[in-house]
Amino acid sequence: MDFLPDAAPTWLADMKRQRPKAGLKSVLASALPERLATALADTLGLSGELAAQKDASLAAAMQRLKGWQFRPDGTEGFAKAEVTAGGIDTAGLSSRTMMANHNEGLFAIGEAVDVTGWLGGYNFQWAWASGHAAGQAIAERVRG
Ligand SMILES: Cc1cc2nc3c(=O)[nH]c(=O)nc-3n(C[C@H](O)[C@H](O)[C@H](O)COP(=O)(O)OP(=O)(O)OC[C@H]3O[C@@H](n4cnc5c(N)ncnc54)[C@H](O)[C@@H]3O)c2cc1C
Repeated sequence: MDFLPDAAPTWLADMKRQRPKAGLKSVLASALPERLATALADTLGLSGELAAQKDASLAAAMQRLKGWQFRPDGTEGFAKAEVTAGGIDTAGLSSRTMMANHNEGLFAIGEAVDVTGWLGGYNFQWAWASGHAAGQAIAERVRG
């Protein structure tokens, strides 16, 4: 992850000249949310004024900040889950009506189907669009 996409690799060294008495935490907090800046500064471990840091250490810190490597170590569990993976295979459904290919009159939509969207509204969109398609098809069947 690049925490400072708009900053040049020399940014910390430049800040050292501009704000020699500032610490890494406050310099990072000028570009990042304060709690994140604190966590990153603590992990980087450069305590004291920027003036006391070697340019090479600041360049190395910058390299880490612009290419931070981490692995997610877990999930928040089902209580916070926002979409479920898996479900009824789309190959078994009509993409026009959402009716099951081999079970006349059985429809499946939304979360019941094996469609998983990115977060950001795509799952609602899928639930509404597939529900609308199935509703139209059911209305057509009722009307004959
Ligand atoms: C915390 C959270 C946040 C989310 N945020 C987003 C988001 O920001 N954007 C986005 O796109 N998607 C989001 N989602 C996903 C989205 O809510 C779902 O994909 C969508 O609501 C699925 O719609 P659905 O109608 O298929 O199922 P659901 O909305 O789950 O509706 C199923 C309904 O069936 C009812 N039901 C269950 N069993 C029975 C039964 N036996 N008899 C009668 N009724 C029954 C349930 O009570 C429920 O009302 C979020 C989900 C969660 C959990």
